[in-house]
This record gives sequence, C-alpha cells and structure tokens, in this order.
Amino acid sequence: MRTLLLKPGRDAATRRRHPWLFSGSVAGESGEGTDGLVEARSAGGEFLARGFASPRSPIVARWWTFADEPVDAALVTRRVADAAALREAFVPPETDGYRVVNAEGDFLPGLVVDRYAGLLAVQATTEGTERARPLWLDALGTRFPGASIVQKNDLASRAAEGLGTADELLAGEALPARARFHERGLSFVADLGSGQKTGFFLDQRENRDLVRRHAAGRRVLNLFSYSGAFGVAALAGGASAVTHVDSSEAALELARENHRLNGQAAASFVSADVFEDLRARVAAGETWDLIVTDPPAFAKRRGDVERACRGYKDVNRLALALLAPGGLLLACSCSGPVDADLFQKVLFAAALDAGVTARILEKRGAGPDHPVSVDCPEGEYLKAFLVSRGGVA
Ligand code: SAH
Repeated sequence: MRTLLLKPGRDAATRRRHPWLFSGSVAGESGEGTDGLVEARSAGGEFLARGFASPRSPIVARWWTFADEPVDAALVTRRVADAAALREAFVPPETDGYRVVNAEGDFLPGLVVDRYAGLLAVQATTEGTERARPLWLDALGTRFPGASIVQKNDLASRAAEGLGTADELLAGEALPARARFHERGLSFVADLGSGQKTGFFLDQRENRDLVRRHAAGRRVLNLFSYSGAFGVAALAGGASAVTHVDSSEAALELARENHRLNGQAAASFVSADVFEDLRARVAAGETWDLIVTDPPAFAKRRGDVERACRGYKDVNRLALALLAPGGLLLACSCSGPVDADLFQKVLFAAALDAGVTARILEKRGAGPDHPVSVDCPEGEYLKAFLVSRGGVA
C-alpha cells in the first residue's frame, strides 16, 4: 500500500478524525500500489488513517478508517449496514424514497446513495470513491438484493478530477429516465435522466411535512418549485390553492406530473424568473398565506457569500412583503458557506427592509437520512427557517 508521510505539525486534523487530507500537508510518499488505497503516517512514522487517494483533487485523500484495520469489503459492508439501520429507525412510514448513504456523514467519503423504491441512484464524487466501487457496489447488492443501481456521474467534482460524467447502469435492465417512489403515502417521480441531485430533493422531506402540517386552508406560493413537492405536500395538508414558480419548463412539467400522480387539481404553474415574478406580485398588491423560498445554492464557495446573501435577502424581502399578517414563510438556503447565523441575519435585514416584523418559529435542516458527522461539519448545508410574519413594523 502507498503511504503518505505528513509534514511535522500538519497531522492535527487527521488525528482529530477529519476525513480530508489536503495536499499541503503531505511531505512525501512511499510504497507501491495501484488500487488507490493509501495510508497516512505522522512525521514520526505513526499510523494515522487509511483510505482512498484522489491525486487530482486538492483533497488528495479521504480517510475511511482511523483504526489500523483493512479497508475492505467487510468494512464497507458494515458501514452500509449501519447506514441502512439508521434509516430503518428514522425514515417515516409509507416512505421508500430516502438517502441511504450520506457520504462523510455515514463514514463513506464521497459516496451518496439515494433510494427510490427498487432503484438506487449512486454518486461517487471523487476518484477515491470511484476506486472503491468494487467494495460499495458489493455491499449495496448484498443489502438491497434485486435493486437496480444507477451511477449518476454528471458532477462538477468528477469533471474536475478528469473522471467520466456519463451515467452508468451498474445493476438492472436499463438506465431509467424516471423513478417512482413514495413519501408519507404521497407518490412522486424523480427525474433521474436530467434532474438535479440524483433526481429529487430528498433532503427537504421533513420540511415538506412541516408545510403539510401547516397548510390547511392556506393559499401557498412555492418559489423555485422544481419537482413541485412542497406544493404536493401543501395540497395533501389541505391548502386551498398552490402556485408554483420556476424558470425551467422541464421542472414545471415534473411538478405537473407529481400533482397528477396524487390526483391533485388545485395547482397552477408559472414559468418565470422568481425575482421578476415577485416584484410584479408585490406591485399588484397580492397577499399569500404560506410562501416557500427554496432557491438553488447561491453560494458554492466562500467568495460567493456576499453576492449570495444579497440574493437571499432580495427574495425573502419580497416574499415577506407578500405575506398576510400571520402568514408563514419557509425560507431555505442550501448554500454551505452561508451558515445558519448568517442566514438569520439575512432574514433580519429582509424583514427590516420589507417594513414588517418577523418571528422565527423553527430552525430546521435536512432530515436524519442526511446525517452530519461531528468530525466533518462541512457536511452541513441546508437551512430551513419557519418564519411568521407579524404586522407592519
Ligand atoms: N424546492 C425544490 C428544489 C429547488 S431547486 C424542491 O423542493 O424540489 C432550484 C430550482 O430553482 C430549479 O428548479 C431551477 O430551475 C429554479 N431556478 C433557479 N433560478 C431561478 C430563477 N431565477 N427563477 C426561477 N426559478 C429558478
């Protein structure tokens, strides 16, 4: 096995079990091996960790274990079994769409596995994770016998490491474009072929349930609607009407399909830029009872944070201005670099500018099928604040 020798004083993160090794910490390497497996040793020669290398990434290795044990099929089978057991305890009834493996959050670096009923959609985000494929594929086949397995490769991180970006069929008959599944008894279709993530925003499941529980009798505006899933949940909860706004026709078509699957007719679909659409609604003096703002990640990197916050402020300021007193706003951000404290400041500035009072009722994130390891807080990204609008300030 190849060994990466760490620079003196640059082994603290690995000793604290952080799974990422940055290139700047490596003094040199020794040993042989073509299977991508590497281990870390301190300047004094002490064993620290073992995992897979990604030589073309700034994160040159990700650690799969900090014990001096083999990284083999048995270890990965154990990790997958642990991950699956966690879901059995936390995934709600009548639900067969959820995240089975959440990468570092399940101690399987760079590996994402989403289940849509009898289909597993897998992402291997790094070269190391790709090299580990025989291990995780075997483990998934054992834990989910008979499942179709699709590897979704259209990822910026893969392109950056020179890995293939065409989707692959790893088990099953044919590459499906869509996958049906259930969430709390509702039916949904994930867009595997050309969709976002692995085809659906499974991370918002518990927040969809929140909307469902508070939707009765409310008129709901679902901004950046994509699959329309928030609107499907709202109508299931007794919303009187739902309007979706998205700039993508394909997304609106997916939303139409999801409403049809649930026999829901009270939804309308607006193809527009949300910022322009909101300004027009405010100018027209509209009011709404429940608004969801769930834009794409405005900030992917630290350098985008300021611009991103202007976007979040704009969209939530306009949404708050549209809410009737006592109305509810579910304000979401999936930008990792915009943390919860900063997002709260953005909502404060939005309410101040809108000239309304606002109270935070709940601060939420992704569901428990998206666990975050305390060793790797970088895995946290989703914020969803439930806000109640008061009167005019
Ligand atoms: N809320 C969705 C996920 C949102 S993904 C869900 O629960 O499934 C972000 C969506 O925003 C995408 O569908 C994208 O087409 C849309 N989008 C991005 N920028 C937009 C803009 N300026 N105006 C309208 N829609 C936009």
